[in-house]
Amino acid sequence: MEFEEERALLIRSLKKYGISDKVLSAMEEVPRHFFIPQSESGRAYVDTPLPIGNSQTISAPHMVAIMCNLLELEEGQHVLEIGTGSGYNAAVMSRLVGDSGRIYSIERIEELAIFAQKNLKRAGCSNVEVLRDDGSSGYPLKAPYDRICVTASAPETPLALIEQLKTGGIMVIPEGGSYQQLFAIKKNEDGSIVKKKWGDVFFVPLIGKYGFKN
Ligand code: SAH
Repeated sequence: MEFEEERALLIRSLKKYGISDKVLSAMEEVPRHFFIPQSESGRAYVDTPLPIGNSQTISAPHMVAIMCNLLELEEGQHVLEIGTGSGYNAAVMSRLVGDSGRIYSIERIEELAIFAQKNLKRAGCSNVEVLRDDGSSGYPLKAPYDRICVTASAPETPLALIEQLKTGGIMVIPEGGSYQQLFAIKKNEDGSIVKKKWGDVFFVPLIGKYGFKN
């Protein structure tokens, strides 16, 4: 396989973030160079975000690893992702939930939704459904979800997303404008939430009804 050595080296370098072996092996199985424009393929296995067009980026590998780790994904789970982008994060999550699981991923920019669909198909991810819409109010049709992963920064926690999370479920979300932090939010049996801060991050903005205005 192409870039196999570069990929293995990159994945090994992510261990310092305390990422589980499960997440690291899922990342080892997903060819990141399938998810970036041809012109950037030389940098596919450098731990950096890369441009994917329409002023958007594919997240850095360590950020995907950290988000997937915080999500504690398990086989068979149903996951909602807001911000498909290239489809790479969806592909890694797709490996973690396996064939019995499902990823619903929403992207507001049509060109990127099409790009992601093509990339996911090439990577053999048949349990991912990409939808073109404003995901800031979630996707009530398939709710509730075991996990929700937001990959664009929200001005505040969108309440609709908390409502669409199962009890015992986990949502990972970056929040803030020019200064952002990543949170893992757990929903308790009584519907209350526990919000834990991971640290400072930088994501593109979540744009939409419950996001920033365009
Ligand atoms: N997870 C992506 C990274 C995406 S960058 C990857 O692995 O490549 C964030 C994406 O969120 C961008 O593509 C942006 O267009 C999208 N986005 C921003 N606001 C959105 C919204 N309200 N609904 C759906 N997608 C949104």
